[in-house]
Amino acid sequence: MNMIFERKLEIPMEVKKRFPVSKEMEQTVEKRQAELQSIFRGESGKLILVIGPCSADRADSVLDYIGRLRLVQDKVADKIFIIPRIYTNKPRTSGDGYKGLLHQPDPNEKPDLYKGIIATRDLHMRAVRDYGFSCADEMLYPENHKYLDDLLAYVAVGARSVEDQQHRLTASGIEVPVGMKNPTSGDFSIMMNAIRTAQHKHTFIYRGWAAHSLGNPYAHAILRGYTNKHGNMLPNYHYEDLMKVYELYQKSDLVNPALLIDTNHANSGKDPFEQPRIVREVLTCRKYNADLKGLIKGFMVESYLEDGNQPVGGKCYGKSITDACLGWDKTERLIYDIAEML
Ligand code: PEP
Ligand code: MN
Repeated sequence: MNMIFERKLEIPMEVKKRFPVSKEMEQTVEKRQAELQSIFRGESGKLILVIGPCSADRADSVLDYIGRLRLVQDKVADKIFIIPRIYTNKPRTSGDGYKGLLHQPDPNEKPDLYKGIIATRDLHMRAVRDYGFSCADEMLYPENHKYLDDLLAYVAVGARSVEDQQHRLTASGIEVPVGMKNPTSGDFSIMMNAIRTAQHKHTFIYRGWAAHSLGNPYAHAILRGYTNKHGNMLPNYHYEDLMKVYELYQKSDLVNPALLIDTNHANSGKDPFEQPRIVREVLTCRKYNADLKGLIKGFMVESYLEDGNQPVGGKCYGKSITDACLGWDKTERLIYDIAEML
């Protein structure tokens, strides 16, 4: 192979032994999992809000952000179930650029995957231990899921991964809800096939094991907008798109039909300040149509301490180094506005 093997990394079991979850942390994760599953089963009418920075670039500002979310969550707990985004690995459209905390625990330094695995686990552990939040991450590399599976509340399969068999099969063996995004092309059938695959049982090779998955009844859809053949970004959160997903679920044998709307990415045309307006429009559609009210279970919002984004190496604390985000003040207002609109 045309590759240099630098070092053998610890397997998930070894990392977990060195950095174990306490009894209290385990209870926090389990309690939140039970509540989230009840929302997906339609037994609780709370709205899910997966919210946070595009990438978790540094622990201090991400935890500062999560601490602020904690205070807001406690005020809206009867209506909204918040899941902070701690996105530790980033897919890159052209392959170049910052690939996330897992690769670069310090975005200004060279990749260090050994330190990255620890930094990633440490950040998710601190969110649970210090703020009572089990969080969301993207499953970019399916074989890495077990480094975090005792900590996560929610897993997303990204637009560039959703057609991939190993992602779908791994999702079928995950206990927590897995959101399948529409692919960058926008084809709904790819997303629906990913959900179907994940809800069923499979036998496959996982981390060198012949493994049997039990199926994930909480695999569901996320609409994030799409890009057409001319490279133009187009939204898919309007009423007709929402109804289309409803119809596809109706025609299927899928359980726990659920849809989250990602308000950034191609839905906002990468303008993070459009997000509050998009939330408002979707909530209006949800109010207008009872079928949509049952189907649309929440939102995914990209938000951080500061508005916008900056290049890697930028000095602004709490400002995204990947996709532009909604800053804290607007975020706080958005969450209270959602609670009022429900
Ligand atoms: C993200 O959520 O930051 C992301 C990369 O999403 P997508 O896969 O929709 O591009
Ligand atoms: Mn993003």
